[in-house]
Amino acid sequence: MYTTCAFCNAKLDGDGGPSGLGVGRRIAFDEWRGRLWVICPKCARWNLTPLDDRLERIETVARAAREAKLLAATEQVALLRWQVYDLVRVGKPPRIELAPWRYGERLRARRQERLKYVIPLTVAAVGLGVAANVAAGGSLGVFVWNLHRLADGLYVTIVGNRKVNLVEPPICAHCGALLELRAKHVQHARVVPEAHADIAVVVSCPHCHHEAAVLTGSDAHAVLRQGLSYLNTSRAGRRRAEEAARVVDLAGGPDRLIRDVAKRELTLRSLRPERRLALEMAVDEQAEVQELEREWRDAEELADIADGTLSSNAQIEEELRRLKGRGGNQPNG
Ligand SMILES: [Zn+2]
Ligand SMILES: [Zn+2]
Ligand SMILES: [Zn+2]
Repeated sequence: MYTTCAFCNAKLDGDGGPSGLGVGRRIAFDEWRGRLWVICPKCARWNLTPLDDRLERIETVARAAREAKLLAATEQVALLRWQVYDLVRVGKPPRIELAPWRYGERLRARRQERLKYVIPLTVAAVGLGVAANVAAGGSLGVFVWNLHRLADGLYVTIVGNRKVNLVEPPICAHCGALLELRAKHVQHARVVPEAHADIAVVVSCPHCHHEAAVLTGSDAHAVLRQGLSYLNTSRAGRRRAEEAARVVDLAGGPDRLIRDVAKRELTLRSLRPERRLALEMAVDEQAEVQELEREWRDAEELADIADGTLSSNAQIEEELRRLKGRGGNQPNG
């Protein structure tokens, strides 16, 4: 088995876990068609594994998947977590009840990222400030607590200033400025109903403050993921994961919740905190699973070639050229 990605040459991570491949932390499998892939941690492309032993390996992965936690699913693709491995099951998933714990992990990861900033900043500041403060007769406890709050505020500022990466930054329909959005600008955005897209967002212009452009598909996902994670990071946005997960479940799943929010057409910052967190979870899941489904369609085409579905050399070369020509950021569908 290879150890680097066939598309970008990055080193594949993980040890293959239940697949026995010896490499891979994100493993995709299709029991029906007998296919097994290792997903690249860098470029997210799917690397088809060699044919020998494939069926046996798929069986052990599928067995692990039956005991795994279901994180998200579309019609075709399900994302599962088994120990430290992400298993991606292709094909119609069995109907499994989505439970609130699926969000717990994501929020824990975010809290850890926050602590990575807050703790060192606090420690550094304490080191500088303790002597002066004690000399002035101040209380050490209150001093440290204030520093912690300061570092926390700094973290929120860092997140708010993160650039939103769009394939092609839109132009403001009102003043003509190029919209270079940062996470904090997205608080004025609104999710709106749109007949021809899973999701649509109206963003406002940071220059003239008018509503400037409508984004759909992966651009809408990108804007919302960064904007919501900023809003939900600030103090008022901190809520329990279970509460928000319940909001998603009560709405009838991620897609339904997004549609419900769109109907009200409120700006993100005026959404209730638990609803805002619920929307973030819903957008995350919709985006992640749609991305996996897109990658699977590409991988499926390559697998057809590898397994000899395309007969002539010319046909294969033409397919490879076409697949190579595609960028990482494709429009929806
Ligand atoms: Zn790669
Ligand atoms: Zn403008
Ligand atoms: Zn204007």
